[in-house]
Amino acid sequence: MRSISLLAVALSLFAAAPSVAADTPDTDLDTRVAAVEKNVVAWRRDIHQHPELGNREVRTSALVAAHLRKLKFDEVRTGVAHTGVIGVLRGSRPGPVIALRADMDALPVTERTGLPFASTVKAKRGEETVGVMHACGHDAHTAMLMGVAEILSGMRDRIAGTILFVFQPAEEGAPPGEEGGAALILKEGALSGAYTPEAIFGQHVWPGEAGTISYRARGTMASADRLTIKVTGKQAHGAQPWHGIDPVVTSAQIITALQMIPARQINVTTAPAVITIGRIQGGTASNIVPETVEMEGTIRTFDAAMRTDIIDRVKRTATDVAAAAGARADVDVQSYAPPVYNDVALTERMEPTLRRAAGDGLRTMELVMGSEDFAHYQSRIPGLFFFLGVNAPGVGNVAAGDLHSPDFMLNEDAMKVGVRTMAMLALDYLAPRAAN
Ligand SMILES: [Zn+2]
Ligand SMILES: [Zn+2]
Repeated sequence: MRSISLLAVALSLFAAAPSVAADTPDTDLDTRVAAVEKNVVAWRRDIHQHPELGNREVRTSALVAAHLRKLKFDEVRTGVAHTGVIGVLRGSRPGPVIALRADMDALPVTERTGLPFASTVKAKRGEETVGVMHACGHDAHTAMLMGVAEILSGMRDRIAGTILFVFQPAEEGAPPGEEGGAALILKEGALSGAYTPEAIFGQHVWPGEAGTISYRARGTMASADRLTIKVTGKQAHGAQPWHGIDPVVTSAQIITALQMIPARQINVTTAPAVITIGRIQGGTASNIVPETVEMEGTIRTFDAAMRTDIIDRVKRTATDVAAAAGARADVDVQSYAPPVYNDVALTERMEPTLRRAAGDGLRTMELVMGSEDFAHYQSRIPGLFFFLGVNAPGVGNVAAGDLHSPDFMLNEDAMKVGVRTMAMLALDYLAPRAAN
């Protein structure tokens, strides 16, 4: 029953889709994509060779801003959320506002690819000197969106509305003590008032078959919350624990009890969830009951309401288990991002566009337990986030190097598919209606 009704909805949406039919080639767009491809590769290599950490994307944002000015964008706003750039492109006719987003930051990883344009950049991170590398492919995201900007700035007559090109800093997180990323862009109000998008689109490269586009509706990538628990007991001799309150045993009970939350307390048919304690530290000797134990972990899920519920349960469980032992648990949860949640209506509306852009390379995908700060936009704006496969031909996922690995490489041939898909999403969403 369910699949039949969904099919009916999909068919009716398909029938109502404006202008371009699913099988009509868009030769104008294809020509423009081909014309910009060489530059996209060159920009990507240049950015790759000069990677910058979050909130320090000075060179990259200058490159982007100069490009948008050269294209005669209506507005080029710089210094957004520290180093971000938002370009405003108005179509030839009025219509809604939409946003296309690319992230610009690199990671503290020392590159090992041996590419001729590999990074040798080092940067200070606190006291430490670290290698810097575009190990998450944000160099490609930025270069592809620069390509889309060039294409669409020449197609204003096919745009009824306004496109915001959001070049975002610090997706991987801001340096300690600083704010940044999507959350700061929203906090600064850069996407509010007259600049409130009706829809936002973003993409991420990933180790998959080159040129494939993968997506799913609803929860797609997990929320990520960092959990810190400090358990305070009372120090004692290890031979006489009854003189103290043992935070080690109490911590063990808390860790076990926390696993009851995903296993026993949430509705697993709504969405899965994971709680991992990844670090635990306490004590100095084998025969001393220490005073305190500290642990850190991560909480992941795919549903906003479930996320709030789990955080409440984590706090209650840790506090009450500690209290039962006469100890105290101080629980702190730091949010990185809510779940990446692809709006159902928007995803269904744009599915024919994805199909035209990717052809038989369109895939639906499994849940991804990783997280992305694009989720912050989606908590306010209906959004669609999809994945572009960038493996070299015949190369398996492991051989290509995972995201964040010093060996991560991407197949530049796939970038034209990413450019075409982002451009098509904007053109289809803002296509002038015949009645206009
Ligand atoms: Zn990343
Ligand atoms: Zn990334």
